[in-house]
Amino acid sequence: MSEDPIKYTVIKKRRVLNSLGGQMVLLMSGILLIAMITNAYLQFRDEVFTMEQVLNVRAQSLGQVLASVSIESLVEYDVQKLNKNIEAVTSQSQVVHAVILDTRGNSLTTFLDLNDIYIQNTLNNLNNVDSAAIVNELDKIPELVTYKVPVMSDGTMLAQAVVVLDNSEYVAASAEKFEEKVLSTLFIGLFVGMGIYFVFSRHILAPIQALSEGANKIANSEFGHEIQVKGDTELSDLSANFNQMSENIELLIADRDAALKDLEDLNKELEKRVQDRTIELQALNTEIARQAMHDPLTELPNRTLLVERLRQNIYLAKRNEKQVAFLMLDLNNFKEVNDTLGHPQGDRLLLDVASRLPTALRQSDTVGRLGGDEFGIVLPEADGRQAIEVAKKVLASLEPSFELDEQVVSIGASIGIALYPEHGEDDASLIRHADIAMYDAKKNKGEPCLYDPEADHYTTARLALMTDLRHAVENDELQLYYQPQVELSTRKVLTVEALSRWDHPEHGNISPGEFILLAESSDLIRSISDWVLEKTISQIAKWQAQGADIVVSLNLSARDLLNPSLSDTIKSLCEKHDVSPSLLKIEVTESVIMSNPEKVIDVLEDPILSQVNYAIDDFGTGYSSLSYLKKLPINEVKIDKSFVLDMIGNAEDTSIVRSVIELAHNLGYTVVAEGVETEQTLTQLELLGCNVVQGFYFSPAVEADALLDVIKTIERDSA
Ligand code: C2E
Ligand code: MG
Ligand code: MG
Repeated sequence: MSEDPIKYTVIKKRRVLNSLGGQMVLLMSGILLIAMITNAYLQFRDEVFTMEQVLNVRAQSLGQVLASVSIESLVEYDVQKLNKNIEAVTSQSQVVHAVILDTRGNSLTTFLDLNDIYIQNTLNNLNNVDSAAIVNELDKIPELVTYKVPVMSDGTMLAQAVVVLDNSEYVAASAEKFEEKVLSTLFIGLFVGMGIYFVFSRHILAPIQALSEGANKIANSEFGHEIQVKGDTELSDLSANFNQMSENIELLIADRDAALKDLEDLNKELEKRVQDRTIELQALNTEIARQAMHDPLTELPNRTLLVERLRQNIYLAKRNEKQVAFLMLDLNNFKEVNDTLGHPQGDRLLLDVASRLPTALRQSDTVGRLGGDEFGIVLPEADGRQAIEVAKKVLASLEPSFELDEQVVSIGASIGIALYPEHGEDDASLIRHADIAMYDAKKNKGEPCLYDPEADHYTTARLALMTDLRHAVENDELQLYYQPQVELSTRKVLTVEALSRWDHPEHGNISPGEFILLAESSDLIRSISDWVLEKTISQIAKWQAQGADIVVSLNLSARDLLNPSLSDTIKSLCEKHDVSPSLLKIEVTESVIMSNPEKVIDVLEDPILSQVNYAIDDFGTGYSSLSYLKKLPINEVKIDKSFVLDMIGNAEDTSIVRSVIELAHNLGYTVVAEGVETEQTLTQLELLGCNVVQGFYFSPAVEADALLDVIKTIERDSA
């Protein structure tokens, strides 16, 4: 949280002199007082001036009166009368001294007001009582007015009349009045000041104070205090505006606070989103990193990670002078399962396979998916023997059939093994060599194969051979040979097996065991099978034309059997050559059937295909499920030649052959044994109850043209 930006203010308590009102009152009272006192003073001065004027006039007139009334008395020299005159004058107010001086300056009669302070002072100052001197002294005092009038008679000055008037009493009275005025003015000033202060503070200061307090509250973010100013003045307008302003500020602040709150919420929300997004991104990054290194379907390490592990193990082995084994595993007939059951089921199967593989491995081993139906396994510190053992375990783990949706599927695998450092010093050559060995394993009917450097040339030529094969198929360069099958009970040849031959212009005879495997890895097998069907059916027709009804047994791959157009192809060829489908026998291997038994059952229910005979080829090498075999329209089983060839002197093989024969008979099948090379074997098979034999003992596969003669010879020799 940021710091509170509001600064709080406080209202000062002011002394009156510091307050606006106090200063205002002081100023106004001061001006008023000065004006009033000045006015009073000017009035007072005017009064004094007027009194002086009046005094002068009175002095003049009294002097002249005294002079005029004294003429007669002087002429007559009537002192009494003169005194009377003096008395009459001096009885007038303000007259403090009156005297008639003769021409020599002696007083003829005189009057002195001894109560007057000036008279007293003058007399005290003068040592003598000379009237002229007194008059001169009094004349010098500014507070007194001295007036001298000559008393004339017929042009002759008889004497001088002097009158002295004192104005001080009047002036004192006037000064007193002035003082009273000043005092009353002060009082008035005080009252007026107080009044002004009262009015001012009530109507101006109080609202200002209230406004100030209001402003202070707003400054301190306290709202809702309305300022009440009575009346209809500028201040009431101001307070109304102030209240409005306060309300607006409150609203603005509320808006601002709400906006800030929203902003804060938004910030929090944003922060949360950023946090969530970061977590998501982290998870995503981890997932991306994981995905980059793992196969999305099986979640096993992908090729990149597997190769990396292999590389690491090679480094370790190099340092510790140990071995590393790399196993390449490829599922047999996976393509067929995928094509017939659909990709989702294919994926499901891969997933199940992927979950079984690790069960046969140690934790330190790495299994990963190289792509398609290929898996790779890295075995640290393993030699050839250990690697083969592990490979067998892996194969055993795949033996139990896989339960897909409403389908039970068996799938075998081929494993090729390459060892570090024997077969390669780096990952690339180990992988390549394991691949070659894996191809050998495919030919080896399921047995894991160690890489054989001697056989390597074959693989390097594989691609070139594929091109040649395609060319051979297109140019009709393949041949079909036929090997007779002899019925032991009659020593008759009723059936022959059609076997493909390829005479390569450079490499000479290439065994079908090799080129068929090659063709099965691509769509080329379909062309070959179509060619075999065409050749076979047309050949049956030819033999029929020569009077021989020979059943021809032909080998079809899993893909052919599950090819939806198989029925149509056979139908049209049979019609074309006027051959019954019942003269055809199709040999399929156990693995083909077991890879997708339900589908095979379905296919064989087809009206055309159901007329054809079927044999299970290479019986005993796969993992047949009897429950399925029973459901199939199969006529015979062919015991694989690997058991037959070594039968003599090999109790194990003999017992396998015996069991197969018994089992097949129990299921109602005819038993054909292939690979019969010797009479001993033949006799043994006869003893075991075998029905039909095929082998070099009677004849290898021969060209069509030679077959009828070969059959004749066989039948003649065995008769
Ligand atoms: P297969 O169907 O089991 O054929 C029998 C194989 O045993 C043939 O090998 C045959 O020549 C050989 N054989 C027969 N008697 C003896 C014997 O007494 N001793 C020995 N050692 N071998 C004997 P071939 O012709 O090399 O064919 C190998 C495999 O190639 C066949 O095994 C079959 O699975 C496949 N194949 C041959 N021609 C075709 C074809 O046209 N189409 C398909 N899909 N597969 C074919
Ligand atoms: Mg066969
Ligand atoms: Mg066979």
